[in-house]
Amino acid sequence: MREAGRVVAGVLEMLEEHIKPGTRTETLNELADGYIRKRGGTPSFLGYRGFPASICTSVNNVVVHGIPGRERLREGDIVGVDVGVILDGYHADAARTYAVGEISGVARKLMEVTEEALEAGIRACRRGNRLGDVSNAIQRAVESGGFSVVVQFVGHGIGKEMHEEPQIPNFGPAGRGPLLEAGMTFALEPMVNEGSYEVEVDEGDGWTVRTVDGTLSAHFEHTVAVTEEGPVVLTVP
Ligand code: MG
Repeated sequence: MREAGRVVAGVLEMLEEHIKPGTRTETLNELADGYIRKRGGTPSFLGYRGFPASICTSVNNVVVHGIPGRERLREGDIVGVDVGVILDGYHADAARTYAVGEISGVARKLMEVTEEALEAGIRACRRGNRLGDVSNAIQRAVESGGFSVVVQFVGHGIGKEMHEEPQIPNFGPAGRGPLLEAGMTFALEPMVNEGSYEVEVDEGDGWTVRTVDGTLSAHFEHTVAVTEEGPVVLTVP
């Protein structure tokens, strides 16, 4: 999983220089797909329940699961990129929201709060904690930042399958749920809306998730292992 995570992190790093006004999201997809295959991996998302691309690209009011296409990035956009890789039988999954050129103050704050919420969740991935402690840490970080947690989509266990038990909500009471033990591996992924938490799936493509009120949404994700020494992020270069 660490090796798969290295490839995932490499994609997110490689895409940085291509995130600029004028780039088509399908170009990001082609670059990511090539990068993954060159390193012996396979994109986990391509063909998953019929998903038609190797990454998800989610612009502005798109929360997650945006499909790369002809759309061009514009100055002031934010774009979430979600990448999953399977390598030697193990998956890793991470996402990051990028600024396209100069972005608004609220967009910047939304991205910062979402990333901080992910960090808070990671810090709670300690042996002896319960899963609810992770969920609660994420929710508190989001809400103290003044934003809304998406409840319809959640994080997940990950390993030989991309989505394993348990589901990991980005909200809920502390002190509940399964005890965390060394060796468990999770994909933590706060999805955070500027306005209302409500989201809807595009009826046309069946994938694209948007905010109902049209406000911005950000998404950060890492694959994390619980170890005797504390949490270890696996999706790093
Ligand atoms: Mg995930």
